[in-house]
Formats: sequence, structure tokens, C-alpha cells
Amino acid sequence: MILVEEAIARIVRAFKPLAPEQVSLASAHGRVLAEDAISRRTQPPVAVSAMDGYAVIASDVATIPVILDVVAYVAAGDTFDGTLKPGQASRIFTGAPVPNGANTIVIQENTEASGDCVTVKESVDEGRYIRPIGMDFSAGDIGLKSGQLLSARDIGFAAAMNLPWLMVRRRPRIAILATGNEIVMPGAEIGAGKIVSSNSLALGATIKALGGEPLQLGIAPDDRETLRNMIAGAKGADLLLTSGGVSVGEHDLVRSVLGEEGMELDFWQIAMRPGKPLMFGKIGETPVIGLPGNPVSTMVCSIIFLKPAMQAMLGMIGSHKRRSTATLGSDLGANDERQDYLRAQLSHDDSGNAIATPFSRQDSSMIAKLAQADCLVVRAPGAPELKAGHKVEIILIGDGLVQI
Ligand code: AMP
Ligand code: MG
Repeated sequence: MILVEEAIARIVRAFKPLAPEQVSLASAHGRVLAEDAISRRTQPPVAVSAMDGYAVIASDVATIPVILDVVAYVAAGDTFDGTLKPGQASRIFTGAPVPNGANTIVIQENTEASGDCVTVKESVDEGRYIRPIGMDFSAGDIGLKSGQLLSARDIGFAAAMNLPWLMVRRRPRIAILATGNEIVMPGAEIGAGKIVSSNSLALGATIKALGGEPLQLGIAPDDRETLRNMIAGAKGADLLLTSGGVSVGEHDLVRSVLGEEGMELDFWQIAMRPGKPLMFGKIGETPVIGLPGNPVSTMVCSIIFLKPAMQAMLGMIGSHKRRSTATLGSDLGANDERQDYLRAQLSHDDSGNAIATPFSRQDSSMIAKLAQADCLVVRAPGAPELKAGHKVEIILIGDGLVQI
């Protein structure tokens, strides 16, 4: 058995960022930038007004009330070539360029218009309500960094930088092969002793949420020849995920069949619960993660190992581990030599502090509880018993890589 951190490091080391591809900005949400996005615009491109009102010269309105001649009318999108002289004002609206000569804005509410004149009833300092040129960003700025996951906000920013296309990483193509004589697809006829494959679809959804493309290879029975044939379907994928068949039982054939097919085994068995039998290797050019079949093990291992593998393929910068702390909501016994990931629900105390309460039963087959969980409480190997009220490390689950 190896430790979780070592297993993560070995998995991440086996992947390189995938090739870049160009996508239109409209399809770039949730993708990862493959090069820096450099602004083609200065924003605002000229000094503009932040309010509806009058552009004036600050010294003209030092003593109030004062009557000024309104010599121009500039709305957003207009330009005005003239220059304001002392005693003059320009009607102006939010986003409109500030006329030359003007150096501040009086808001509409503090004025009274009559004919070609305006009475200004409040003094304003120079520069008030003027957004100077380049206040937001300038042409040539690195607006977004290579390796950055593109949020909805980033899409808006890229649009403002006048970048209609971006270079992003190709989506990882990940083959999924469920195994087990007892496994059938949902909706199919379910004979006695059969189990519906929740893993195939849960893994597919996870891959999509993490920015990849799932490739469903189907369900292989626990039979060497069929397994061999079906594993061949992963050729050309960036990663093969198998579910089930990697434990120590005599029907657990995945490791030995992959071995016969030339897989280089990197490691098998991790000091964790759930997920101990996880296997990692490489068959030809394709890395393989052999996930344990229990639905909770499959999903917890996806969070702990698949996610960093995909982030490595996507060349992502920054760790998106979603690790945090919370106050423990119930007592826990001492832990053994395996790192534990307890399914837990979050609530909040009166001061707004997060309380993580693990479910009392933690069997790795219990998918309903996994679906109801908000987080995993992480317990280090050998951790002593812990009373409710102490801080614990948690991993938040429930959001993928697509962000607002
Ligand atoms: P295994 O790792 O093959 O021994 O499987 C462990 C447990 O997980 C068994 O109870 C299987 O029935 C169950 N299991 C295996 N594959 C799946 C799957 N695709 N969906 C749901 N449960 C599964
Ligand atoms: Mg099995």
C-alpha cells in the first residue's frame, strides 16, 4: 500500500498538457487557456463619464450656485471634437467621452437645466465621476493567464479585450469500462443477482464536469477474453478508467488481463478508505486507472485521483483542491493506517461556521448517502479519536470545473 499523496504525485507525473486548439469565445466557458490572453483594447479607450449629468471645469463650480452655457451634448457612442472653455458645460451621459477641457462631472440631480443654460447647485472636485483612459486595462496587458480555467466572468473579460477566439487545451478523451458479471446498464433487463451500473454514468458525468469527453466502452463480464477485447477500445484515448475487478477476489481479472496485454503497473493498493484496491499503470501509450467497483469508492477516487490527472492534462495552474476546514459535528473513533474520506453533510451554527457531520454508516456501497453528502471529512492515517467541536479537514464536493 502506498500513501494517497504519493499516489496523486505518481499519477500527475504521468500526464502532460494536451495540444492546444482554437475555440470561439462563445464556446470557451469551462475550457482551460493554453496561452496567455493579451488585450487588444484599452478600456475605457478614452476618459468617459461614470454618470448622467454635465461635464464641467471644476474651478467654474467652486462657488455655487453658478450658471453655465451648455455648448455640447455627448451621449454614449458620440464624440465631441471641441474644447470646453471657462463658463461652459457639456450635457453628458454614462459611458460618453468627456469633452476636452472638462475635468469633472456634475451629476444631473445637482443641476437645473433651462434653455441653453444649466444651474449647477453643488461643487465637485476635479476628476469626480470620470473614468480615466485605461482605468480597467490596457492594450498589451496579459488579461488571462495560460493554464487558467475560464469562468463566465473571464469570458466577459476576454470579450472586452476584443478577443473573439481563444487557444484552449483539447478536452481529455477518457474511456470508461465497467466490469462485472452482475453489472447491467440502467433500463436493461435486470435478472436475479444483478446490479445496475451506476459507475459508468457517474464517471461520464464526472468527466464532463471536469472538462473532459467520456467514451463509454460498455460493460465487460468477468471473462478474460471479453475483457481483452473491450479494453482494446481504449486505444487512442488519453486515459482508460476501469471500474471493478481490481481487488483480490478470483473474479477480479482487470489487473492480470491488463498485465497480459503489456500494461506497465505503476502501483496497486493505496492506504485509503474507500478506494484501497485502486490500480495505476500504462498500456501502450494509454494510462489506466483501475477504480474499485463500489460506487462510493469509484466516486471518491475520481475526486482524489481523476481530478488531478485531468487537471494535469488540461495544464491547469493553481490547485483546485477545494480543501477547507469545518467543525466536526459528531464524535469520531481513532483511525487505522488508512486515510479515511468520510461522507458528511454540512450545516452552519449561529455564527455561520460550517459544521461537518459524517453519516453514521460509511459503507462504500451506499450511493444514496454519497449523493446526499456535501463534503468528505479527511482523516489522516493513525488519527486519534476526535470529539465533536474540533476542526477537521474537508474536501467540498458538488461543483465541477465550470464556474461563474
Ligand atoms: P468489484 O470491485 O468488482 O469487486 O466490485 C465491488 C462492488 O462494486 C460489487 O458489489 C459490485 O457489484 C459493485 N460494482 C462494480 N461495478 C459497478 C458498477 N459499474 N456500478 C455499480 N456497482 C458496481
Ligand atoms: Mg467485480
